[in-house]
Amino acid sequence: MDFGYRQPVEIVFGSGARGRLADVMQKKGFKRGVLIADSVFVKNGMADEICGSAPVAAVFDDFGANPEIAAADAAAKLIRKNKADCVIALGGGSAMDLGKFAATVAAGKASAEELFYGELPSKGLPVIAMPATAGTGSEVTSVSVMSDSARAAKKPLVSDAFFAKVAIVDPELTLTVPPFVTAASGLDAISHALEAYWCKARNPVSDALAVRALALLFGAFEEVCRDGSDRAARTDMSLGALLAGMAFAPTRTAGVHACSYPLSEMYHLPHGEACAFTLDTFIRINSAAEPERMNALCRAIGFASPSAMASRIVRYKKLTGMRTTLSAIGCTDAAALAAACAAHPLQNNNPVSLTADQLEEAFKALG
Ligand code: ZN
Repeated sequence: MDFGYRQPVEIVFGSGARGRLADVMQKKGFKRGVLIADSVFVKNGMADEICGSAPVAAVFDDFGANPEIAAADAAAKLIRKNKADCVIALGGGSAMDLGKFAATVAAGKASAEELFYGELPSKGLPVIAMPATAGTGSEVTSVSVMSDSARAAKKPLVSDAFFAKVAIVDPELTLTVPPFVTAASGLDAISHALEAYWCKARNPVSDALAVRALALLFGAFEEVCRDGSDRAARTDMSLGALLAGMAFAPTRTAGVHACSYPLSEMYHLPHGEACAFTLDTFIRINSAAEPERMNALCRAIGFASPSAMASRIVRYKKLTGMRTTLSAIGCTDAAALAAACAAHPLQNNNPVSLTADQLEEAFKALG
């Protein structure tokens, strides 16, 4: 056996952990932060609460669900203007993606566009990540997904610069997340853990993290979708998403995520819904190739079989209003979708290699 595992992000986890921001900044020697937050937190007063509790000089919230390189330039300008020595990213995946990228742009001379298309530095301003959804795991990964819609480009950028210095994971921040986003984020986290477990780059540390993550996520998913104010379920989802993030940070993801990018680009599915779209299909395909390994996972987390796990995902999707068929997403050209999915580089990390024809058949089987 031969493997490595690296996770440089310091983690502070707990209900109310957002109240420890000032303490974390002081311990790290940070004097002045700029907060990059989803606008919902500016509207509901959470940004004010955070600015009142820690030395935060300014707030940036002018960005959408797919953060643009232009937003990164604007945020970097604000960071420089305020002479901030750290960036605090509060929100879902988009706030953390933008926070990480803007912190790197702000630390150098190159524009966001130059970095998006060129070489990424390995260092940026330090980031404190405060996830407000239980899903992306971005708080513990070196990935920042950015878009340049002018050129129809969206891609995950990977650099050590995008590891946060500290992740402050406070499940209370997820209490106000609406049901559909809760469900999509949860299915994204389940995808991360499963892909870390079955991908070619898997390792024993990721395995252990993924198994625990899946037990937590499957255990709490239905309750958190039924009652978003259930603190115990929210805590399990936040912890599950964090562990799933730690599982896939070094392994990357595989076929499910490979397909999610074309699904989001061509049919505008939110990331979690795009992952959920093919998740049960990949559970069936990948389990058939490695039945013993998947049976062991099922035994560990209480499923009778991989097929039962796949059926559970289908049930989750129906329960939470995810689209499950090609017609529902408006796709009339399964061949073009399958070709884009088969060509995505993450497909190479899937334990089973699939041709465009095989993917097309799988998509058509969805109805
Ligand atoms: Zn994902």
